[in-house]
Amino acid sequence: MRQSELFTKTRREAPKGEVSKNAELLVRAGYIHKEMAGVYSFLPLGLRVLNNIAVIIREEMNAIGGQEVFLSGLQNPELWKKTGRWDDSVVDNWFKTKLSDGTELGLGHSHEEPLTALLTEHISSYRDLPKAIYQIQTKFRNELRAKSGLLRGREFMMKDMYSFVRTPEELDSFHERAAEAYKNIFSRAGIGERTFRTFASGGSFSKYSDEFQMLCDAGEDTIYLHRERELAVNREVYTDEVLLDLNLDKHELEEVRAIEVGNIFKLGNRFSEPLELAFTDETGGKKPVLMGCYGLGLSRLMGAVAEALSDEKGLRWPKTLSPFALHLVAIAGEKVKESAEALYGKLSRHGVSVLYDDRDMSAGQKFADADLLGIPYRAIVSQKTLEAGGIELAERAGGVSRMVSEKELFSLS
Ligand code: ATP
Ligand code: MG
Repeated sequence: MRQSELFTKTRREAPKGEVSKNAELLVRAGYIHKEMAGVYSFLPLGLRVLNNIAVIIREEMNAIGGQEVFLSGLQNPELWKKTGRWDDSVVDNWFKTKLSDGTELGLGHSHEEPLTALLTEHISSYRDLPKAIYQIQTKFRNELRAKSGLLRGREFMMKDMYSFVRTPEELDSFHERAAEAYKNIFSRAGIGERTFRTFASGGSFSKYSDEFQMLCDAGEDTIYLHRERELAVNREVYTDEVLLDLNLDKHELEEVRAIEVGNIFKLGNRFSEPLELAFTDETGGKKPVLMGCYGLGLSRLMGAVAEALSDEKGLRWPKTLSPFALHLVAIAGEKVKESAEALYGKLSRHGVSVLYDDRDMSAGQKFADADLLGIPYRAIVSQKTLEAGGIELAERAGGVSRMVSEKELFSLS
């Protein structure tokens, strides 16, 4: 893509009233647009990042047997009344609305109820199980505070998977497979080393749930981390009793701030019982299907990466999430332009995804923008590189740049 044709512009100033670093950088770089508090639109560069995250998530969910669906955003209150979750005192972040005849509807903040009810039409025997079903979709939550940019949206992108199994053993074993898949997702997204499985409150069916917490000072959560054992305990369950239960010594734990990037949960029969999702087992007996849920915020993950991997100059995407593999920057001069145009054509033919800065601007402005945009590799074509007979390749992460051949760039796809 030619940068001269990109409709979004970078800006030097932080948007008014934006207090979170992730949103400030992403707005300044033209990745997202702030509609209002907690509500953001994704622009071409931002959508590319979000789509890259979605690709990773889909691969990992499909690898553990997930089948993708796309459920409705509008919610039927009747289903939620059966589980007691239509009540605003039970779920305090509903967005509700009315049809013109007065019928109430909700906007989906989660999808246990509709999916469980839907499955009663498809699941009836032990032979139909186990199943894992997921979607990537917009969620709506009337969050009290929405000051953390993409980290806490009132409208945001979530992947939610639900498992449907026969026995507690199957539930445990799928829970572990999901935890592995989550580890893969976070390491592929470039935050594996700073993200830890964390014991958190579990609800009625299991003692704990597992959160995936990324260390970050901007995080809302406080966790107690055992670095060597690569696990942590959320403050909400941090008691002497729990430490004893987990065989953790207080003195070996660090108190740190973190962002919850994912959450996996055993639901048991909490939803299958009231919504009558049951199966007949081998002996002909009727049992409730057991369930688990596995949530991961795509937009929160994008915000968390922006928050954690950026520096004072701007964003710094890992290769796997970057909107482009390469930022090609041409520095003034007719000859330079000719050579850069030719290189852009060749890179495109070799399938390298490249953002080509073909704008009429000073080198200083172009480099400042490139730093802000945060594409991991930058290829520079200038009078100097033409004379040296190569292309200068620099990394956004820093370090020395080096002269490379065209051929070397072709492998950056
Ligand atoms: P939190 O504790 O942060 O309020 P939660 O425990 O309510 O989140 P879940 O309902 O388990 O979150 O949602 C699954 C995932 O969706 C979370 O782990 C997080 O990645 C993401 N998520 C939840 N709420 C938001 C939000 N308001 N904005 C962006 N992402 C969110
Ligand atoms: Mg939580």
